[in-house]
Order: sequence, then C-alpha cells, then structure tokens
Amino acid sequence: MIEDCFYDSYDTKDSLHFESKVVHGGLGCDPITGAVSFPIFQSATFRHKDFDVSTGYTYTRLKNPTREELERTMAILEGGTAGFAFSSGQAANMSVFGILRPGDHVLLSDDIYGGTYRIGEDIFKNQGCVFTYVDMADTEAVRAAIGPSTKMLFVETPTNPMMKVADIRKLSEIAKEIGALLVVDNTFLTPYFQRPISLGADIVVHSGTKYLCGHNDVIAGIVVVNTPELEAHFQLQLKSRGNGLAPFDSWLLLRGLKTLCLRMEKHNENAALVAKWLREQPKVKKVYYAGFEDHVGYAISKSQSTGFGGMISFEVDTLETAKSLLTKTNMILFAESLGGTETLITYPLTQTHESIPADIREKLGINDRFLRISIGIEKVEDIIADLAQAMEA
Ligand SMILES: *Cc1c(COP(=O)(O)O)cnc(C)c1O
Repeated sequence: MIEDCFYDSYDTKDSLHFESKVVHGGLGCDPITGAVSFPIFQSATFRHKDFDVSTGYTYTRLKNPTREELERTMAILEGGTAGFAFSSGQAANMSVFGILRPGDHVLLSDDIYGGTYRIGEDIFKNQGCVFTYVDMADTEAVRAAIGPSTKMLFVETPTNPMMKVADIRKLSEIAKEIGALLVVDNTFLTPYFQRPISLGADIVVHSGTKYLCGHNDVIAGIVVVNTPELEAHFQLQLKSRGNGLAPFDSWLLLRGLKTLCLRMEKHNENAALVAKWLREQPKVKKVYYAGFEDHVGYAISKSQSTGFGGMISFEVDTLETAKSLLTKTNMILFAESLGGTETLITYPLTQTHESIPADIREKLGINDRFLRISIGIEKVEDIIADLAQAMEA
C-alpha cells in the first residue's frame, strides 16, 4: 500500500519540532487519496492481492491502518521504535505484565493507580508473580526492595494521587544494573511534558483515555517500546489477546492528539493557579501539586519534565467540606477519570483507589477528606469560583 503513495511524507518529518509532529502524525495524510484527516479503515479483513501477496494488512486484530497510524504517531512522540494501541489503559497494562513469568518479582510505586494494583494482586499474583510496593521517589528504598528475581520496575511519576516524583534516570540506572525492565506510566504528563524513553525507560505505557485523547470520549491504552524483543512481545499480545484499539477509537485518539500541546499548556497554566489558590484556603489542609517550588520532587521534575500537568490532590478540614465540594460544584463535574477538557473532581477513597488496602491508603494519606481534581481548560476564574462557592455551600 505504502509503495503506491503519491507523495512520501514520512521521512521528511524527522526535523520537525514536537508541536508539529503532534499535528502531522506518522503518515499524516492518507497516502492513497491525500485525505488530510487520516481515514477510518472500518474493515475486519483485507483482500489479498495475489497468491502469497497481501497489502501488508490481513486482519484487523493483527494490524489495521488507522490503528497503525496512531501507533506510528505515538512511537514518534515518545521517541521509541514502535507503538501499540490497546482497547484500554488496563489492556495495555495487562500486556505489560504479560512479560512476567512465574516467580518474577516486580517493584511498583506505592500509590499506583488502583487498576494497576488490581492487575498485579488479583491476576498475576495467582500466576506466581510477586509484587512489592515502594516509594519510588526514595531510590534507597527502591534498592533495598530489590531481590534476586526482580524483573520489572513499574513507575508512575508524578504518582496518582499523591503527586510523588520519581527520578526516572536514577531508576533506569538501577534497572540496568540488575537487568530489569523500567516501565513508566506517562499518563499524567504525556510526551509533551516528559519523554521517559529519553531518560532510560524501556517501556512507556499510557491510559490514552486521559490527556492523549483529551475529550473524555474514548477508552484507550498505548504502549511504546524501543527494542525488537519488546516489539515482538506486544505484537503477540495484540494478536493473541485480541485487545487492540478499534479503528474508530484509534481515529478519535489521532484527532484528539492534534491539540495535545495546546491542551497541556492550558491544563498546566490553570492547575498552577488553582493549586496556589487552594493553598490559601483555610478549609484546605494540604495541597499535593508537583509544581510547588517547595515540593520535595521539584528539582527532579525540572530536570526530567517541562511541565507539571493538570492534576492536583488536596485534603480538606472535614468530611462535610469534602462532600460539599463533590456535590455542590456546578461547572466542575463529580466524576471519575482525568485529562479531559472538562474539570473533574474525584473521591479517590471510593473511586480510583478503592482496590488499595485500607492500611496502605491510610499511610499514603488517602482518607475521607482527600480529593483529586483534574483541571480542565475552562477559564480558570470559573474553576476557582465554582470551588469557592461549593466549599462554602
Ligand atoms: C486511568 C488510568 C489507567 C487505566 O486506564 P484505562 O484507560 O481506564 O483502562 C492506568 N494508569 C493511570 C495512571 C490511569 O490514570
């Protein structure tokens, strides 16, 4: 198919800036028709050209042109050799953990996303894998937790929801010393702000549902790798688990991606202002935001990322204030998820982190007065005004 291109846009894009690569994607236009919006190839199967000759596509579970364009785009943006698009972030993580063999030991961030925790504890533990949760911001604690069978370090940075910042370069050194893989969940910052492969990560994983899509209308997962062995693993996962992203959803993600840089800038700008405002409120006891200059991970953030993202967590004085914020906001929506254009407020205790055992939650500070906001791209004055009225309501 590609040899029939009436133009070749792929090789000429290497010199473009990130902001332009986001807009122009992998192939960008359809190489056959020139369609500026990459087509949705809504076909399960593909006609063979001749005996033993295909177009390169045979069956959508294995490979689909629209999904492939998304995968190519994500590989370019994350600086890897190949990308893979899955039906959800969870499906992507299932396939990441699919690398493990019985007896393998994994270190994970101690306030890891609840769904990732569940994959380890409820599925892979039964298959003989062992999981240890550590504060990935504390490299000494990471070293102390390593055992003879440690095969993977799985890190979120900043973490969800405590906003702890891990030093990706240092963790990569540790992983390389012991021959383990470093996996970074880059959902919170996206490649616009942070490119873990350039810092030494082996695998980048995303819930594409969040900032990559950006519009709260698709469930998707992305993996980007940089070795042929890992490429083969994830290709087998798509083929065998059948968990690839559908063509239409791939197209929605491609469409959402085009505005990634603009959206991330606005999320980042709004979040900095809301975090500062929250900190000044008497009913707010503590604000967790990676962009505060007095955040313990601030210097590391500055050394590995170019922004802090749009996520803020905070603790209020009473359960009543927490309930009021969740139920009395008007524009801000009380809903799970994050990373979309709309500001969402979440209650981690029962929504995103209900799978995490109570004692771990307690230790982290996820109590009944703890809230998380995904700052949208609305006018920041409206976000603050809504929080202010709900806090007093
Ligand atoms: C949402 C999320 C996931 C799971 O992704 P889904 O697309 O909901 O399956 C994994 N990791 C993080 C950090 C998330 O925010």
